[in-house]
Amino acid sequence: MAERYIDYDKVFQDEAKRLNGRKPRLLLHACCGPCSCHPLEELVPYFEVTILYSNSNIYPRSEFERREKELATLLGDLHRDRGYKVDLLLDDYDYETYMADLRPFPDDKEGGRRCQICYEKRLRRAFEVASEKGFEYVTTTLTLSRFKPSQVINRIAARVALDYPSVKYLHSDFKKRGGIDKGKLIQRQYGLYQQLYCGCEFSYAGGLERAKKLGLKDLYHPIDGPSKSPEPK
Ligand code: SF4
Repeated sequence: MAERYIDYDKVFQDEAKRLNGRKPRLLLHACCGPCSCHPLEELVPYFEVTILYSNSNIYPRSEFERREKELATLLGDLHRDRGYKVDLLLDDYDYETYMADLRPFPDDKEGGRRCQICYEKRLRRAFEVASEKGFEYVTTTLTLSRFKPSQVINRIAARVALDYPSVKYLHSDFKKRGGIDKGKLIQRQYGLYQQLYCGCEFSYAGGLERAKKLGLKDLYHPIDGPSKSPEPK
């Protein structure tokens, strides 16, 4: 039986309203700087946000470090220009151990089984850290991406949350209400680039093909114009 569609953006907005001005501590799992821009716009008015950069899925290590550095620089810029006070927690990098669970599914398309395992691993780590450090809420930037199914990510996170009773999962669908385009405005302001692949070696191979088709010399291109296709579910 098909899963029932839930408007997770509405769930997010309702939860934010219920806080009634109280600003609880929230741990935001972030995959990179560009994908953090719009979620921070949505979250900072309601929460004391700390970002967790925990992404052992990223290949190669130099790219993991590049994204980490870009995120740290972005947070400094957002503090200076917008007054966002967002702490950054950096997790260890252990690609080989991380990939052991994903390697059985090399041919899956993005969003398939391999990715669902990958979302769960990173979300579980975020809950673990949040639980250890006394955060009230956890959420993730992953629902911003048009390539990532928000319905699936929210369901996985809600299931993981059952194992961490002291932490609430904040549902989200950051791609809604023009989230992708709002994020691009900030990304352009700070000269961020779009990376052409998600993270692991399997997506890296796809990124190389895309770069070749686009005639690019590397795996990055400047932030492009407004989204032309409707917001995916
Ligand atoms: S494509 Fe992205 S989400 Fe999917 S397995 Fe690779 S790194 Fe993880």
